[in-house]
Amino acid sequence: MMNTALINRHVAAVAIQFGAYATPLESIVKYVAMSMGDDAPDMARLLNYLAKAETHDELAANYEVGLWCGPGRIWRLVSLSTPPTLEAIEHRLNSYPDSVSTQCAWCLIDEKNHYATELIKVFDLHNKPIHRRVVHRQCFKPFTVMLQQYERVKK
Ligand SMILES: [Zn+2]
Repeated sequence: MMNTALINRHVAAVAIQFGAYATPLESIVKYVAMSMGDDAPDMARLLNYLAKAETHDELAANYEVGLWCGPGRIWRLVSLSTPPTLEAIEHRLNSYPDSVSTQCAWCLIDEKNHYATELIKVFDLHNKPIHRRVVHRQCFKPFTVMLQQYERVKK
C-alpha cells in the first residue's frame, strides 16, 4: 500500500515551492519523488497515482493544490493557498499579469491561444464579472476567497 497522505503532503510542498508550474507530469513526479526521498514509491506507481482524477479532487479539497492536465498534455501544478495577510492580498490584487486576457489572475500561467477554453471570468460580491480578470476553473476558488476577504474588509 502507498501512503497517499504522505504523497499528498509532498505534492503540496512542491506546489508551494514552485507557486505555479507547467510541465509534463513526469517532471512533477520527479520533484515529488525527490521531496519524498527514501519514502518515495517507484516512479511508475507515483505517476499512475498523480494522473488519477480522484487524486486531483483530494489534493484540491484537502491540500490546497491544483493539479491538472492542460493543453498539449502539459500539466499544471498550482498552490491554492490564499495569502496570510491583508497586505499580501492587496499586493496580489494590485498586480496584473502582462497579458490579462490569456494569463490566469491567480497562478499567472499563460494559456496563450487556449485561453478561451482554459480560463473563466471572476465575479465580485454583486455577481458582476470583474474587468481584466480571468482564472482557471481550479484557481477560481482561492482567487474568489481572496477577493471577498479583501472586499469585506475594505467596505
Ligand atoms: Zn490558474
